[in-house]
Amino acid sequence: TKVLLTGGSGFIAAHILEQLIAKGHSVITTVRSEDKAAPIRAAYPDQTSSGDLRIEIVPDIAQPDAFDEVVKIPGIEVVLHTASPFHFKFKDPQKELIDPAVIGTTSILKAITLHAPTVRRVVITSSFAAIIDESKLTDPSTVFSETSWNPVTQADIHSSPATAYRASKKLAERAAWDFISSEKPNFDLVTINPPMVFGPVAHHLSNGLQGINTSNERLVSLIQGGWRDGVPSTGQAFLWVDVRDVATAHVRAGLELPGAGGKRLFTTAGEFSNAWMVDIVRRNFPELKEKLPGPEVKGGELPDKRPRFDNKKTVEVLGIEWIPFETSVVDTVRSLLAHGA
Ligand code: NDP
Repeated sequence: TKVLLTGGSGFIAAHILEQLIAKGHSVITTVRSEDKAAPIRAAYPDQTSSGDLRIEIVPDIAQPDAFDEVVKIPGIEVVLHTASPFHFKFKDPQKELIDPAVIGTTSILKAITLHAPTVRRVVITSSFAAIIDESKLTDPSTVFSETSWNPVTQADIHSSPATAYRASKKLAERAAWDFISSEKPNFDLVTINPPMVFGPVAHHLSNGLQGINTSNERLVSLIQGGWRDGVPSTGQAFLWVDVRDVATAHVRAGLELPGAGGKRLFTTAGEFSNAWMVDIVRRNFPELKEKLPGPEVKGGELPDKRPRFDNKKTVEVLGIEWIPFETSVVDTVRSLLAHGA
């Protein structure tokens, strides 16, 4: 199958690309610059020379015509749109988060509708950020599921960096479903809605640990000694999933499960806490002892009052058995150490 994967330089996309190539699919991936293309080409020399992997430069996904040319490559059947900013280092949330998230999404859907009649399915990487409701975070009677929608609006984007990121994902996903219902294109849509994603970093993404993706930053901090004097709060969104499972979800939903069309897939393996993470690293990496908080250092426990979640429908659709937290943490730490942590 011929697949277009946007944001090929990303943490999650690298695993999607690896799985697609392992299954023998033909992949076109977009990146922002030649700098980002070179390590991907170097990681897949055979596929690059056979033409089974093609890397296209799309410099700015916030341009309404960003994807007009790339979707014209003949024969694309499936589009996996992962490119979207995930960081909290912005000054202007509208320009740096909302525009690339929302315009990136609508521009690719429009471009496919106009120029790529062979596309039958589009999978968009949304997020638990589009599901969560910040006003319910201490409410044990709330159950987040595939049908939950974050009530955040455009008017909230200046309240905090986390809220701005969540708004970017909610508004982008909402725009995608609205596009499907108003335009009735020839393709259908699936969204993948993962919470915090942990997991090993593809080797070719290494440029030291400076460029580490946002969700793995806490593990870098832990193994570099940042938590010795206190384990930070787990945060408001204490659900997680392994990156390899997120990649599997994209590949299955895009290429292997016709019945997934029209669904939101809430890909989570369940709850985690920073305290639990510390315990796993302590037991599995005795050589890191000096860097880790001692057993007397408290913090990072799950709060007693917290919402619940239900993703039974997603598990049924995907037929997936989630990678356990301990395996994910151990594999992530090994990969970070290999990248120089
Ligand atoms: P990364 O930061 O590693 O990947 C983000 C990708 O999007 C990169 O390829 C990046 O390109 C590209 N991108 C970001 N901003 C722009 C822009 N303005 N124009 C063009 N491309 C851009 O993060 P992840 O792999 O974690 O994120 C991938 C997707 O998964 C995103 O949609 C994110 O919202 C979503 N997600 C991630 C979660 C997580 O915990 N990691 C949880 C839930 C959802 P470049 O490499 O050039 O920066």
